[in-house]
Amino acid sequence: MHRLIDTHTHLYDNSFDTDRKAVMQRAAAAGVEKIISVSETMEDARRNLELADQYPALMPAAGLYPAHTDLEAAAQMREFIRANREKLAAIGEVGLDFRIVEDHEQRQIQRQILEAFVDLSLETGLVLNVHSRSAGRHAVELLIDKKAEKVQLHAFDGKFGAAQPAVEAGYFFSIPPSVTRSRQKQKLVRSLPLSCLLVETDSPVLGPDPQTRNEPANAAVALKQIAEIKNISRKAAAAAIYENTRRLYSPWI
Ligand SMILES: [Zn+2]
Repeated sequence: MHRLIDTHTHLYDNSFDTDRKAVMQRAAAAGVEKIISVSETMEDARRNLELADQYPALMPAAGLYPAHTDLEAAAQMREFIRANREKLAAIGEVGLDFRIVEDHEQRQIQRQILEAFVDLSLETGLVLNVHSRSAGRHAVELLIDKKAEKVQLHAFDGKFGAAQPAVEAGYFFSIPPSVTRSRQKQKLVRSLPLSCLLVETDSPVLGPDPQTRNEPANAAVALKQIAEIKNISRKAAAAAIYENTRRLYSPWI
């Protein structure tokens, strides 16, 4: 068993309502010490704070999913983050999603919302936990332009060329268990330096089997695959990834 942190999960999701305690116990048994539970809406963000009172391993994050191109909801979320800053481990998930949002003006609103979250990250010192589906290159450019400092790119679906400026900027990439079945993620892990990798699960999705509910214990599956791709022991991979996570999330971890 290795020390792991699941850096991006949706533990408020109602698919966990019947057995959340068992899910947390299985995570602990798999070596997952902390779980960052991101949010997509205000309701999720509030639920994360409640769950954090019940489960000490849960580190709550608050953000607005980029499909919600709603400036008012984004402003409310920023206020919520400021008000709960001491309890939160990250701002997320936030970002760009050009698969869901195809309209040019709506994409501009996504950018505007993400820019304001970058400013909030610089103001509060909180990590940005970033979603960038079909928009990896755009998200990285925006983050670098805005001089974002603490950045985790979650389930990055771009190529190494799009990722490289983020590596140079000192950003981190979290790898989900779906790396066992995604050639794109395998290639990305091969090209990225070990020093910028984290693990996540994105539970309940992005599991090793797309038909089965994913859960934080599967962070160990992502670790195993990373170790195999990098041709190092699981122990060495786990130690490096833990240290990377600590570097990004200090003083929370
Ligand atoms: Zn997610």
